[in-house]
Amino acid sequence: MSPVLNFGAGPATLPVPVVEQAAAELGRRSRDGITIMEASHRGLDFSAVAEKAEADLRLLLGVPETHRVLFLQGGATAQFAGVPLNLAPEGASADHVVSGHWSRRAADEAARFCTVNVAADGAGSGYRSVPDPATWRRSPEAAYLAYCANDTIHGVEFHRPPDPGGPPLVADMSSTLLSRPLEVDRFGVIYAGAQKNLGPAGVTVVIVHTELLGRSGRAIPSVLDYRAMADSGSMLNTPPTFAWYVSGLVLAWLIAEGGLEEMESRNRRKQALLYDAIDGSSLYSNAVEPAWRSWMNVPFRLADPDLDAVFRDEASAAGLVGLEGHRSVGGMRASLYNAVPETAVRTLVEFMSDFERRHG
Ligand SMILES: *Cc1c(COP(=O)(O)O)cnc(C)c1O
Repeated sequence: MSPVLNFGAGPATLPVPVVEQAAAELGRRSRDGITIMEASHRGLDFSAVAEKAEADLRLLLGVPETHRVLFLQGGATAQFAGVPLNLAPEGASADHVVSGHWSRRAADEAARFCTVNVAADGAGSGYRSVPDPATWRRSPEAAYLAYCANDTIHGVEFHRPPDPGGPPLVADMSSTLLSRPLEVDRFGVIYAGAQKNLGPAGVTVVIVHTELLGRSGRAIPSVLDYRAMADSGSMLNTPPTFAWYVSGLVLAWLIAEGGLEEMESRNRRKQALLYDAIDGSSLYSNAVEPAWRSWMNVPFRLADPDLDAVFRDEASAAGLVGLEGHRSVGGMRASLYNAVPETAVRTLVEFMSDFERRHG
């Protein structure tokens, strides 16, 4: 059993059996006398790990043959540049939808490499919702439409992907990939840093349609070049072997637990428990419109901010950690990734109601 319940946003809690398995396997040397952490990325042991991780990810998400799966480095932040460099020819424009902190960051970074048209910006509503797609100001020539499926900081989630019309759809799914089934064939590019819902920090999954490999015709740093990375099996240079390996353990765990339909029903119940508790209280509040509330990251405020530190101290004493809101927005945030069990959410909700009785 995990000694504490970790609601941190990322790097985040991993399934207990995965941590135990990784620890046990590190204590056991392979037939060549080395552990997986020390093995060559070109050796047989790691090749098997790498192939199985990709196969399991493909199985879970139903990734079609049209799409390549890459295991890269540099986090989602590297992809903020990787997307325009790979998809937008020199001088082209791209449409970005801003629904919170991360999509703002993605748009700002993309603007260094192409002309960014912000088609819609939720800042006007304080990121409580996303403007209706009918009002988005799309540019006719856009090389792609980019959005963030789940803003980890503002707690705003698209519960259905937007319809991009003509150009390819690009999604930052760092904090929501694998939380529920996904129609991958609707997307040109999906990317996700592992450290939220997939594994430890250090590896970034990119799922890209083969038609987009080499699309921009630009000179791109090789480590960000989807075609070069696809051609080399993500081993143009040394990949982050340990993070890739642990992510593979998480993928196998997801399959053993019943796959993404099962994750969807667990995650649906978990978020309902917490939002119901927040909405039913007079101490806690979450300002996001219900249709846009994230299942994975639930920011909330206390009516009296002087109680913030008391709340965190008492929570931590009760073994509930990682509840501090992002430094840019303050307040609290509970992240409810796949590895957070429903019992942990029940414990949190009980703690919150007890805290309200005593301090509310
Ligand atoms: C955490 C996060 C990022 C940044 O990820 P890095 O791995 O630190 O680059 C980007 N987008 C979203 C949605 C995130 O949650």
